[in-house]
Amino acid sequence: MPLRRQFDYLAPQPLPQPGCRVRVIFGRQLLVGIVTAHPEHSEVPPEKLKPIVEVLDSAPLFAPTLWSLLQWAAAYYQHPLGEVLHHALPQLLRQGEAPERRALTAYELTEAGQAMLTTPSRRAPRQQRTLERLAEGAVTGADLRAEGIDTPILKTLQEKGFIHELDLLSRREPWQQSFAIHHEDEPSLNSEQALTVASINQQQGFGVFLLEGITGSGKTEVYLQSMAPVLARGEQVLVLVPEIGLTPQTLRRFRRRFNAPVLPLHSAMNDRERLESWLACRAGEAAILIGTRSALFTPFARLGLIIIDEEHDASFKQQAGFRDHARDLAILRAREERCPIVLGSATPSLESLHNARSGKYHYLKLTLRAGGASQAREVVLDIKSVPLKAGVSPQLLDLMASQLREGNQVMLFLNRRGYAQSLLCHQCGWIAACGRCDAYYTWHQGSRRLQCHHCDSMRAVPECCPECGSSQLQGTGIGTEQVEQLLAERFPQYRTIRIDRDSTRRKGELEAHLDGIRAGEYQILIGTQMLAKGHHFPDVTLVGLLDVDGALFSADFRATEKLAQLYTQVAGRSGRASKPGLVVLQSHHPEHLLLQDLVNNGYGHFAITCLQERQALALPPFSFQALLRAEARDRALLEQFMLAVTGLLSQRQPLYPELIFIGPLTPQMERRAGKYRMQLLLQSPRRQEIARLLQELLPHVEALPYRQVRWSLDVDPQEWL
Ligand code: ADP
Ligand code: ZN
Ligand code: ZN
Repeated sequence: MPLRRQFDYLAPQPLPQPGCRVRVIFGRQLLVGIVTAHPEHSEVPPEKLKPIVEVLDSAPLFAPTLWSLLQWAAAYYQHPLGEVLHHALPQLLRQGEAPERRALTAYELTEAGQAMLTTPSRRAPRQQRTLERLAEGAVTGADLRAEGIDTPILKTLQEKGFIHELDLLSRREPWQQSFAIHHEDEPSLNSEQALTVASINQQQGFGVFLLEGITGSGKTEVYLQSMAPVLARGEQVLVLVPEIGLTPQTLRRFRRRFNAPVLPLHSAMNDRERLESWLACRAGEAAILIGTRSALFTPFARLGLIIIDEEHDASFKQQAGFRDHARDLAILRAREERCPIVLGSATPSLESLHNARSGKYHYLKLTLRAGGASQAREVVLDIKSVPLKAGVSPQLLDLMASQLREGNQVMLFLNRRGYAQSLLCHQCGWIAACGRCDAYYTWHQGSRRLQCHHCDSMRAVPECCPECGSSQLQGTGIGTEQVEQLLAERFPQYRTIRIDRDSTRRKGELEAHLDGIRAGEYQILIGTQMLAKGHHFPDVTLVGLLDVDGALFSADFRATEKLAQLYTQVAGRSGRASKPGLVVLQSHHPEHLLLQDLVNNGYGHFAITCLQERQALALPPFSFQALLRAEARDRALLEQFMLAVTGLLSQRQPLYPELIFIGPLTPQMERRAGKYRMQLLLQSPRRQEIARLLQELLPHVEALPYRQVRWSLDVDPQEWL
């Protein structure tokens, strides 16, 4: 229950241990609960205490290390312990399922299937691709689905007798202390890499490493070679990747290297498959778990190393409910497990950089390109008073034309999906606005709809203006669909593909598009930052960022850091040694200091400038923040609530001399999904101070008589508008 308290029940003998699940009556429902403690006394009179209905586990589901991590996290993020524990369990365990292995469905070629592979025929391409995918051995259904190979194809091939289903668990071989953990030979490391691997492997027990390495400098190779001795000792490795980074290629790269079970944990897996991965890690049968944020809470029998790839990525921070930061909690987990943790990135977060520069973390750097990609050239294009076509300047169009003529690919970024940012009546100035938010509708031409990007409400595009009846409706503000349309008209001889949330809605669609790009089916790529993350495109020789001004002048102080990361990532992922890339930034403010610093001196230098600026303004990482957000349908009620909270704060402030609070503030978009919003920011140079204050304050806030106001607390917020 989302309540900051626990509930007492009468326990049977023998007492279920803390960390065991039980079934209890709660109100009128039968729910799964988790035993947290054995208090001797209860405030509930004995005759009113309800008995536990059923004990579900004979041993705790949480290892002691995880148990203390979760207790700590609940206190630190000021989140109800019940929800934190619930969140840490796979769905089926939350529902009361037994923590027992069943089957792990995989597919394998039959002899007939093997034969089909060698005899060329005119088979349906998707069937052919599936057969080729299985050529190396059995693959789980979950992995195949993540690659866009769905159940109907598998059924067809099964009916034809080319593949059959099997249970991978029944074939599991113990891998522990295996002498031959390598499938393929390791490349010999360059001296920077070798030093890095040596210092990670020398670490006994807990230690944090920040591995800053430009794209292509061989970070992944460092991960692999740091893992080898850990696996050889029979210990396990947890690898966390950003939401979009867990591609089949990543998995394959790890599986090719090690002769040990590498399991994924990702959103394309069903509940049963996720539970199987969880159980295999807990039992010590999985050697490596590669997963997104939530994989952090997987139990391990013998965890020996944690790796976080792209540690700066925003997807590690949960933006709703239990707003934890997986990177920060992973560091605590490593401390609990007494193992090293490596944070890797080409563009480390300012938080991690600050910790590395101040000596809290070991700071490792890779500055050389291992794989022979080249450093891209960088240009800022001044677009002041330049006529733009769908946001693209004539200079950029010329550059595109010459790269395309030479058979190269070009890639354009714009962080706005849809056709136009809004729909405007040319006659009277009416703009289509969302009725539930203080925001305009985005015009999507593909789906012929107006869509609100803040509350997801939709409506048909009107034929004429509802105010004056004019049919002269036009779009304002460019979105990715419009760029795509313009370029398809301008360069009809080349094929264009758009990658954004709209064009990749279905499972496997993103993978299929990316495959097409790598195979050279498309020459012009347009996308939001989705296209930037984790994908290497060696044939892309020109990258254009169409609009960087939004980030330079954002009210969010993290916007420039995010722009610099995006920019550095895309610059590093294009081109190869024989085909160096060019990166073009379009801006109305080419003289902007941070922009110039970034382009002339690179991310490392930019980051230091940025850190100095943050220090001067006492912003994170030089201070700590917590944000109280509140919303209500009734604005007056919301204001009263915020005033009451401010009153509670003011009373206590003298006890917390270094703490400041800012607000209550109204965000730029005051109303969202029909609710008014306000927020209050707490800031202090000392983490402890905020934690102590919140602990004291929240019970009083909870007791305030405003049931119509919903509020939440975000400790270390990453977004605040
Ligand atoms: P990053 O993760 O930093 O982007 P990778 O580890 O993917 O870099 O390395 C980039 C490319 O260089 C890959 O193709 C990889 O196989 C290759 N590579 C990395 N280290 C070496 C090495 N020591 N010798 C040869 N090739 C290497
Ligand atoms: Zn009008
Ligand atoms: Zn809306």
